[in-house]
Formats: sequence, structure tokens, C-alpha cells
Amino acid sequence: MISYDTVIGLEIHVALLTQSKFLCSCKASFGAPPNSQCCPICLGLPGALPLINEKAVEYATKAGIALNCQINHFSRFDRKNYFYPDLPKAYQITQDTFPLCTKGFLEYYVDDRLVKTEITRIHMEEEAGKLIHSGASIVDSEYSLVDYNRAGIPLIEIVTAPDIHHPQQARLFLEQLRLLLSYIGVSDTKMEEGSLRCDANISLKPSGSNVLGTKVEIKNLNSFRALERALEYEERRQSQVLNQGGIIRQESCTWDDRTGKTMPMRSKGDAPDYRIFPEPDLPPLHLDPVWVELIRATIPELPLERLKRFEAEYGLSRYEATFLVNYPDFGELFFALACQCRAYKAIVNLLMGDYARLAREKGHLDPQRLAELLTIVDEGQITQTQAKDVLEDLFSSHLSAREIVQEKGLEVMGDPESLRPILRQVLGANSELVHRFQNGDTKLLGFFVGQVMRVTQGKADPGVVNRLLRDELGK
Ligand SMILES: [Zn+2]
Repeated sequence: MISYDTVIGLEIHVALLTQSKFLCSCKASFGAPPNSQCCPICLGLPGALPLINEKAVEYATKAGIALNCQINHFSRFDRKNYFYPDLPKAYQITQDTFPLCTKGFLEYYVDDRLVKTEITRIHMEEEAGKLIHSGASIVDSEYSLVDYNRAGIPLIEIVTAPDIHHPQQARLFLEQLRLLLSYIGVSDTKMEEGSLRCDANISLKPSGSNVLGTKVEIKNLNSFRALERALEYEERRQSQVLNQGGIIRQESCTWDDRTGKTMPMRSKGDAPDYRIFPEPDLPPLHLDPVWVELIRATIPELPLERLKRFEAEYGLSRYEATFLVNYPDFGELFFALACQCRAYKAIVNLLMGDYARLAREKGHLDPQRLAELLTIVDEGQITQTQAKDVLEDLFSSHLSAREIVQEKGLEVMGDPESLRPILRQVLGANSELVHRFQNGDTKLLGFFVGQVMRVTQGKADPGVVNRLLRDELGK
């Protein structure tokens, strides 16, 4: 058996979160009644002339900067001609020869290793409409319906170099990319609604060889899991074919999540000729370098920088930092709390534990109220166990943490003067055991502590009780 290296490249389509479409002023929002958001421009009616949405160029540029790309001050739109019912003009406006962004990269962690995947290009293009078939596909349907609301929504296509080496890495790349795009606010990145879609190509080559094998393209992977599973399946299939002396055919496939297999798409055999030529109705884009720098200034702290800052400045573990980066609302809350309480580990433990569960059901608490709870715990006024109770009440009432502690009578009894009489009472009631303790059965200390905790209904500070007991018992 020959061993093979896997070579994976990704193409990701991202719908930009603009209010209007790319080349007309129709609304770009999701979920409107079918064909209620179209006009002669996005329907491609004769004589209608497109106009470029500046916000779409801004968002595409922002994505390019965040992905460390070179932003090309000259780029151009092209017509890609083909017929399909979801494409009313019978051509798609895209950027072929002169894309907006080139030569970027994205860094992300694979296990504990920081890896870099090259971004070959990012170009702008328009979305097609949506087809709804009465049957399984367009060929075996009695009829198909078409909704052009999505036609003309601005997209960017992000193309990576083939330098991803295994299916899990492809998933980690896509997760990091999605997080980055949501940080810069250019897309809502909802894979389930199609605003982030991924095509993957995969080939195998004999280990160490420089010659790439024949690649298979898998289209329209609509979840992280589907991406990883489809690539794992295809990696296995190709290695079996090659080991049996077979040949991989260059083809496009779809992924069937139900059967867990890739299926070749129907094709006419030849690569389609799109007859691509420069779009005559749109001028080339000439970006002003000052404008590009202004966009650069709007880029916020990105996920990887933030991860490193959580580790370096706050001493959090990779696991904790990743949680706060992946859930930016929790990350922001952490920063708000860290200004008021320096027990960073305690903050992140609280946020990742009971707080996360409650906040998912009921929404976030005001940071001020939460900070007060953390301070009370940090000062030792209540125990961790009691803090859980107080937290539940913070979500269900409008009282402050201190008010809840008072109302419930939760303060920790840590004052030796009030604890000593209780201690003596417990020891007096168990004189037989005290005798055994003094004769060397030191394990009984735990029993005495337990008794004091019982009498005080769990309010006594166990550390203080321990110290006082040893003191009283002369050990
Ligand atoms: Zn329109």
C-alpha cells in the first residue's frame, strides 16, 4: 500500500450584510414574500443599467484587509455567461481576471500548532435566485418555482491555496474564517440560511511527491460537520481507488448527508465555456488608497489577537480563552467584569459554568450586578456554593447581589468569636469522641467540622472552623 498526502483547497461564498443589493436599490433582507424584492435591474430586463453599491465594496475590502490581503487599487467586473433558471440575466456579474483582493492568509490553531493557510484571492460577485423543485431535482420535477429575492445580493468568494492537509484542518479553517467575518460585521455567516457556503476540492498525491493528483470538487457543503465528513469520505474513497490501481476522474460531486456519500453531479462531460468578457455596463473599480486606509482603521481586534490577549494579559488557559473568543458576547462581558474584579479565573469559571446555562435561557445580566456577586465571593463573604444560589436569584429578581445575600441570610460566618461557642457546644455534646480524638484518632476532625457546618446551616467558613477546632482540641 502506498501512503498518500491529502491536498485540500476551499472556495467560500459569503453573502455580505448590506441593506440593499449589489447593483440595484432592492432590499437585501432575508425572509420576504417570494419575488417581492426585485426590480428591472436585478431581473436583468432589457435597458436596465446596474450601479455599484459602495457599501458592498467597503465590506469586501474590509474582509480582504482582515485576511491580510493585498487590496488591488484596480479591479474589474466581468460577465460569466451561462443559462440556468435561477439566473435571470443568463449571465453573472463577477470578477475574473482582476479581483479586488489577492495574496492573503488566515492563521488558526490546529491542536496546539498555529498554522497559516494562504488566501489566493477574494472577488466580488452577485448571488443567483432560489429554485424550489416539486421533486428531488430540476430534472425529475413536474414543476419548479423561482424566487428572485436573493438574485443580486452581493457576495464575496474567498479562494484558498491547496495547502490544507486534512479534513479536520479544513473544518478548523472554516470555523476561524466564519468567526473572523462575524467579528468584522460584514456578514451574518449563517450556514443554515446559505449566507456562508463552502465548496471543497480534494486530491491525493504519493507522500512527498510534488505532483498534484486529480482533484474532485464537492459542492455546497452547508455545515462544518458536512465539510469534514464529506472530505473524510472522499479521502478514503480516493485512496481505495488508487490502491486498487484505479484512476480518479476529475468531477464535481454533491454530498448526501443522509447516506454519508459523495455523488457525482450530472455533467455534459466538457468544462462549460462561460465566454467571460469585461462587463460593459460597469466601470472598473479604482480604489482611493486613502479610502482603503480609512476602512483599515475600522477593523476591530480580530479573534486570534484576542485569543492571545486573553492568554497573555489575563492568564487564561487556551480552553478558556477560546470560549470567550468564540462567544464574543461573553468576551465583552469578561472585559467589563475584569475592570472591576481582578479574580480573572473566577470570572471565566462563572461565565463558562452556571452563568452560561442561565444566560442562554434568559439573556445576559447587567455587568454591574454580576461584578458585585464576584466581589462578594472574592472577599470571602459567601462560598462558591452559595454564589450559585445568588446567581439564580439575580436572573429571576431585580435585587442586587448584596440584597439577595442579606435577604437569604447567606453571609459566611468567619468570625471566631461567634463560632467558638458553637464549637464548644458541639465538642461538649460529643465528649466520648473528643477523648478518642485526643488519643490519636485524628480522622474525627472531619466529623467535628461537619457537625459545626450542620449547626450553622452551612454558613460557617470551613477553613476558620478547622483552625479553631485544632486550637480547642490542642492539636
Ligand atoms: Zn433590484
